[in-house]
Amino acid sequence: METRDLVCIRCPLGCMLSVEMNGREVVSVSGNTCKRGEEYAKKELTNPTRIVTSSVLVAGSTSATVSVKTADDIPKGKIFECMKALQGVTIQAPVRIGDVVVKNVADTGVDVIATKNAI
Ligand code: SF4
Repeated sequence: METRDLVCIRCPLGCMLSVEMNGREVVSVSGNTCKRGEEYAKKELTNPTRIVTSSVLVAGSTSATVSVKTADDIPKGKIFECMKALQGVTIQAPVRIGDVVVKNVADTGVDVIATKNAI
């Protein structure tokens, strides 16, 4: 058995979690104040994912850039590839919140969408 310590990032309380692992399997989680902490620990140690936020260039707008994010979590190991895919992307105005900026980014099955309007 191995014990892994991590900080829950699901809310600002930042509970210190202690996780008993048997190989790649989570046996128990302690230190969490609520159920979300247990869920976070299990996911983080077996299939870590993140929402990625960034910005891309906009052409034909008063705004030079528009903020974007992945529409869903992507595997942590795909973050670099996702950021690379966004480099050099320029979209044409008008841009509306929710518009798809990059489809299926880094072959994750997740789109990158605009989180700001640019007209
Ligand atoms: S375990 Fe619950 S209370 Fe503690 S940081 Fe995570 S979400 Fe917040």
